Amino acid sequence: MDSHSKNGKLVIISAPSGAGKTTIIKELLARFPRLEFSISATSRAPRGNEVNEKDYYFLTRDEFMQRVREGEFVEWEEVYAGNCYGTLRLELDRIWTKGNVIIFDVDVKGGMNLKNIFGKRALSIFIMPPSIEELRNRLIGRATDSIETIEKRVAKAEHELAYAKQFDVVVINDNLDRAIAETERVIADFIS
Ligand code: ADP
Ligand code: 5GP
Repeated sequence: MDSHSKNGKLVIISAPSGAGKTTIIKELLARFPRLEFSISATSRAPRGNEVNEKDYYFLTRDEFMQRVREGEFVEWEEVYAGNCYGTLRLELDRIWTKGNVIIFDVDVKGGMNLKNIFGKRALSIFIMPPSIEELRNRLIGRATDSIETIEKRVAKAEHELAYAKQFDVVVINDNLDRAIAETERVIADFIS
């Protein structure tokens, strides 16, 4: 382990699907040159114009489980039935070696696991949707998932919201500009 691997910082962004994580993270990456996105591995198929090794490391289910057995993941979850997502140890080293701060887009459980592992080196942020109804509307508006998938994600969201208080910071994403500004402020404090 080099010194970066022992001291590197990380910012965790978690929220139910559709709350606005991806949108907010994209803005943060444009504003903080030292932030670098942790590319997760997943066993789900690419969606829309997602690119391998940029949005995700797309693996088959067998490849994913093989790497689980070999202990290559810091954390992983079967976030939705049949679809696994996880953070590879090598990904953390890739980013910390450059002296950058890692930003994660992970589900609520993954976010809590990373915070437990890294403690004060991690800032955990929960992005809160204004309501479940608005969350459903956003998923419908995004038009990337079938109605069945959307209903599964909404059902899971109701449970996930209960974990918000275990995060360091909760940001309500009703107004996008305000949510970005608030997230930007807490991250600036954390990495300064
Ligand atoms: P997540 O990554 O959490 O699943 P996305 O960033 O993909 O969520 O956002 C879901 C949808 O909601 C997208 O179509 C996005 O443009 C939209 N969205 C994000 N934030 C807001 C907001 N504050 N008001 C209205 N729509 C929003
Ligand atoms: P999607 O299929 O919409 O890209 O992502 C589904 C969910 O998986 C999102 O809540 C996202 O935050 C989560 N996710 C993505 N990568 C990881 C990861 O490495 N670990 C965990 N635990 N969750 C992840």
